[in-house]
Amino acid sequence: MAAALVTGTAAGHVKFVKGSAGLGDPYFPQAGNGGYDARHYAIEFRYKPKSNFIRARTKILATATENLSRFDLDFRHLGITSLRVNGKKASFKRKGQELKITPRQGLHKGKPFTVQVRYRGHPRPVTDPDGAADGWIPTDDGAFVASEPQGAPSWFPCNDYPTDKATYAIQATVPKGKTVVSNGALVSRATHGKHTTYKWREGSPMATYLATATSGKFDVTRSKANGILSYDAVDPREAQASVEPLAQIPAILRLFGPRFGAYPFGSTGATVDHAPGVGYALETQTRPLYETAPNALTVAHEIAHQWFGDSVSLKRWRQIWLNEGFATWAEWMWQEHEGGKNLSKRFAELYSTPASNKSFWNPPPGNPGGAKNLFDGTIYVRGGMTLEALREEVGTQTFFRILKDWTRDHAYGNAGTEGFIKLAEADSGMDLGHFFDEWLFKKGKPRNWGSSALRQDHVAARGTNAPASAAPAHLGAIGQLRLSPPAPRAAP
Ligand SMILES: [Zn+2]
Repeated sequence: MAAALVTGTAAGHVKFVKGSAGLGDPYFPQAGNGGYDARHYAIEFRYKPKSNFIRARTKILATATENLSRFDLDFRHLGITSLRVNGKKASFKRKGQELKITPRQGLHKGKPFTVQVRYRGHPRPVTDPDGAADGWIPTDDGAFVASEPQGAPSWFPCNDYPTDKATYAIQATVPKGKTVVSNGALVSRATHGKHTTYKWREGSPMATYLATATSGKFDVTRSKANGILSYDAVDPREAQASVEPLAQIPAILRLFGPRFGAYPFGSTGATVDHAPGVGYALETQTRPLYETAPNALTVAHEIAHQWFGDSVSLKRWRQIWLNEGFATWAEWMWQEHEGGKNLSKRFAELYSTPASNKSFWNPPPGNPGGAKNLFDGTIYVRGGMTLEALREEVGTQTFFRILKDWTRDHAYGNAGTEGFIKLAEADSGMDLGHFFDEWLFKKGKPRNWGSSALRQDHVAARGTNAPASAAPAHLGAIGQLRLSPPAPRAAP
């Protein structure tokens, strides 16, 4: 009460500022906005797949982190029919992806506010610096919605940066016979006349790029996967090829849980579309999205992202190896678990790639060098090799302690490469500065990263043609871990 009185009487003296148009990411300077924290998105839309026409309303609940006279949202192309802040009409201007909003009254630091935007039009994807399309991608029966790194504003106004996570309620109406698959749990599905409305809810904090509302013809099955509520939505054209890989989901969760920490979300599953032109799958939160039937390796990769990328998200896009290197390493672990190639052997084989193969070794995963290199092969492969080299350096038990501490310490939040290095040093008691410098930041083939001469000799030997069975004694095979019963889940 006292605070309200002070604010009331001192209102004339409060200095209001404009929220910044970006959050300073060197790769995507316009991404995200300053001055507020989005807490919840309520997105409602009607979609006509035939004409790719959307009519939508997005309501954002946010908290001001500065006294704001103006603030931006990220929003692309679609036509705005009304915009209200705290229920009152607000004026706005648009410039590229920036939607600049001037509320009637200044917004006070620390206070919640709402923004409601009504809009319509033909949503279209965003072309990324590497040439890929992301965001709202129309298909022959609906839309494939995958927004990494900058496609979210192609279908809803938002604070488009991974550090501003929020909860989501997504309600979508489509012609009867079509399905909308989104994140989290299906709250309701109701058919009225010629339309069906789907209401989805994701109650765990989620980055904008991980939100989806993919539509088309899907057969949805609801089940429990390793005790977790699971929805598999499959385009009938991909049904046959999806059976075997999706059947692996419980086993993948069983392998990852004891090693990465308890599964971070309330639901899981898969959405398998028939959109072969897209060219990638995405770890949309709780329910990865596949352009066509995936193989089990890809399923393992996207599920690993639920810990590495979705729950623990990067702070800057250049730290993308924290997502892709980890998911790639997890994929290799899954393969070994399934009787495939042993991790040490795989590492040795990859490491034998000659230094003259510059595109195999560059750019270094910790510094992609630009937005167009965000998803280069090295981010995945050399990123995954970095983790395997780390496992060989610190030993398997310590390695998994590092991974579990990482997912626990930063659950539902954000963390960067520096934080990972510090954690690995703290958990291992080793000075790993040189190690990570070689693997993450130096151009060219890493050499002599080990803490002992013995390790260097060993890797040098295996790098040529020595058998992988020469793995050092302290390493402990992943295979040994899998023979023991799953570790009990840590208390949350
Ligand atoms: Zn990935």
